[in-house]
Amino acid sequence: MSVPTMLNIPRNVLINLGLSSIENVHYQLSPEELTEQTLQRNEGVLNDAGALVISTGEFTGRCPKDKFIVKDDLTADTIDWNEFNLPLDTKYFEQLNKKMIQYISDKEIWVRDSYACAHPDYRLNIRVINENPWSNLFAYNMFLRPTEPELEIFKPDWEIIHAPGFKADPALDGTRQHNFAVINFKKRVILIGGTGYTGEIKKGIFSVLNYILPHDKGVLSMHCSANVGKEGDTAIFFGLSGTGKTTLSADPARKLIGDDEHGWTAKDIFNFEGGCYAKTIDLSEEKEPEIFHAIKPGALVENVSFFEGTNKIDFKNRKITENSRVSYPLNFISNSLDPSVAQTPGNIFFLTADAYGILPPISKLSTGQAMYQYVSGYTAKVAGTETGVTEPKSTFSACFGAPFLPLHPVNYAEMLGKKIREHSVNVWLINTGWTGGAYGTGHRIKLSYTRAMISAALEGKLDNVEYQKDAVFGMMMPTVCPGVPSEILNPRNTWKDKNNYDLEAKKLAALFVKNFEKYASAASEETAAAAPVC
Ligand code: ATP
Ligand code: MN
Repeated sequence: MSVPTMLNIPRNVLINLGLSSIENVHYQLSPEELTEQTLQRNEGVLNDAGALVISTGEFTGRCPKDKFIVKDDLTADTIDWNEFNLPLDTKYFEQLNKKMIQYISDKEIWVRDSYACAHPDYRLNIRVINENPWSNLFAYNMFLRPTEPELEIFKPDWEIIHAPGFKADPALDGTRQHNFAVINFKKRVILIGGTGYTGEIKKGIFSVLNYILPHDKGVLSMHCSANVGKEGDTAIFFGLSGTGKTTLSADPARKLIGDDEHGWTAKDIFNFEGGCYAKTIDLSEEKEPEIFHAIKPGALVENVSFFEGTNKIDFKNRKITENSRVSYPLNFISNSLDPSVAQTPGNIFFLTADAYGILPPISKLSTGQAMYQYVSGYTAKVAGTETGVTEPKSTFSACFGAPFLPLHPVNYAEMLGKKIREHSVNVWLINTGWTGGAYGTGHRIKLSYTRAMISAALEGKLDNVEYQKDAVFGMMMPTVCPGVPSEILNPRNTWKDKNNYDLEAKKLAALFVKNFEKYASAASEETAAAAPVC
């Protein structure tokens, strides 16, 4: 790719930002240049494979409590104001915007024009303005990359200003603390300050699309990964963080569509993004070869540690965070689909990492059960892994992505339910979590078994086998599955103490029922009837 010169910087970048000089503006630099500049500024180093390794600083994850949406006449009655959608007054937005522009006006900045949505009908042009070259590399990796002719006529629909070094003054700026992510739907601007965590950039645009697509365009937006088989058979994988969306969608037998964010139109599904953002904790070449080999020049690795005295990443090291990550363009995965648009899915997988060890490793859901699980959005994490044995902690997050949903969850659930019925989609629940007991007694189910179960479902090998009904949750568990020992298919069998399993299953059922209370009035009879028995 030829390198655009400074003169290619669109005039409106400068005008909008109130900048008079282009001296300090780096426009549309290549990954090589961004990597080089990061090294020169001592903001990163290369690992032994040539990937850029950086630290995001104070924050190594998103901060949902500091995410705001500007409340104005456009959003006041459409946004579901809740713990994830916090209102911010227009006057505070204006103030922050002004201060941020002032802040960057005497600094070197990196500007990138890119877009979201691989489907041409829904393309959203994004201009990202960063304070650091490495976060501009993140934008290059994660958003879609316009061609040069497209760049010549590029007009941004949305702008993101990302300045980790800019700190808000909560007393004056209406924020909770110094860091913030603010979405302004009317101005079409996202302001991110005080945090260097790059994930805020991609999840900011995801939140925007979760409003625009269902609300204005009738397209269902989804927090899921997706891949497609040789016959054009699409599968999508919903799940909260750490349940396996990225891991399980990278399958050598299928083409990768995307690992995190997709839209479902009347005819097809498409990726919002142009890259993947994979976890690297405990990453191994043997278990996850595609992701392991994506760590190469151009990839951006965040918050990992090296083996002492080397530049070899110690993937087991949790010193900085559990949430170490790597971003890379989709084509770093050898069998990715380009453009990432595919036909309506025939199979949906809901992934849950159940640290209580109660849910079956694979089960089939009725439409009512599918809706119930979708609205519930259950997973259970192991709380505080670093301090030794602790209780699993249940999480319920509507549509497997409540922090990114500006509209009420029922909007998304109804759209999904309609599509499942219309296209007779198979829906499976996969427990990628514990088996043989809860965390502490049992262990996490082998990744190779989970992969075998998903392959069997996709290849129709579970179509004509015998099923057994789960006594508490009601879903149907296959009694045999190729490549998986039959005795693990019913979780009760894997517990030494069956009474204890029954007791714990009832306890988990009660958690589901309690969580569902807030949706009960809006849910259909069919969905409500799919509640577990407790
Ligand atoms: P996020 O939304 O934060 O990106 P994600 O759903 O993409 O999360 P992954 O990045 O795929 O989650 O994380 C799953 C993690 O669990 C990986 O580190 C993977 O190695 C590990 N793992 C262990 N056992 C399994 C299993 N049986 N199935 C899936 N993942 C497993
Ligand atoms: Mn992921």
